[in-house]
Amino acid sequence: MTNTANTSAIACQVISVEALTPGISKVVLRPEQAADYSAGHYLQLVLSENDKRPFSIASSARSELLELHIGTPAGDTWSSAALSHIEQQFRAGLPVMAEIGLGQAQLRETSNRPIILLAGGTGFSYVYAIAQTLSAASASQPVFLYWGVRHQDALYYQSELTEWARQHKQFRFIPVVQQPGPGWQGRTGLVHEAVLADFVSLEPYDIYIAGPFAMAGIAREAFAEHGAHREHMFADAFAYI
Ligand SMILES: Cc1cc2nc3c(=O)[nH]c(=O)nc-3n(C[C@H](O)[C@H](O)[C@H](O)COP(=O)(O)OP(=O)(O)OC[C@H]3O[C@@H](n4cnc5c(N)ncnc54)[C@H](O)[C@@H]3O)c2cc1C
Repeated sequence: MTNTANTSAIACQVISVEALTPGISKVVLRPEQAADYSAGHYLQLVLSENDKRPFSIASSARSELLELHIGTPAGDTWSSAALSHIEQQFRAGLPVMAEIGLGQAQLRETSNRPIILLAGGTGFSYVYAIAQTLSAASASQPVFLYWGVRHQDALYYQSELTEWARQHKQFRFIPVVQQPGPGWQGRTGLVHEAVLADFVSLEPYDIYIAGPFAMAGIAREAFAEHGAHREHMFADAFAYI
């Protein structure tokens, strides 16, 4: 399914709001009617008729609950306003409205090509849904999940991902910390540069990308120069840049 517009808003009960890190919250919603979406789709939280804000759906499409990861960095008002709206409705016992199942960058489930999942920061939400779906489908192709963050304390699902990779010998999890603190022994630098360093050519891969728009744009061009086919790179950020 590929949706871009005219999706009706569905009322969703707010089940929980909890901090994953000081600047990132996990929100769980229960749609009051069946929501049609695939791994890699996003929803738009309706703040008003003219103010709808996109958030990737972190939960697998099999789940009755929708999980969101909302980053509210210092100075941000865009996602803070969305989170405040959700918290306000939660306290009042009222639902939020969301248009569910949007985007063009959902998992291509019929492709058998090896996969690279590239996440910057809370772009992890998007790749997490895809990773869970590949795992549930016992996908046989190699899957490399790269998650880049500025500081290691933002790797809020590191243990889940380590376990995900442990359970499937063809899955790899590569966290990449931009500004490592003491004790970090893993990869460092910008996350897309880690991908460039690890692959001689990206020609065989389906590549799914989410994160800051600047990262998505830079990665698309650098990956294309490194052999990736543009028609095999997927990111909803591409529609915004
Ligand atoms: C369809 C859609 C869905 C969205 N879903 C969500 C969501 O679920 N949650 C949410 O909070 N926001 C979402 N957004 C908003 C936006 O995408 C996020 O605010 C953004 O991804 C947040 O990144 P960050 O601050 O966590 O990453 P940062 O902490 O800024 O960066 C993380 C890593 O990305 C890389 N990176 C960052 N900047 C650059 C650069 N200039 N060049 C190269 N590499 C770079 C680095 O490796 C860095 O360590 C969404 C937007 C759209 C359009």
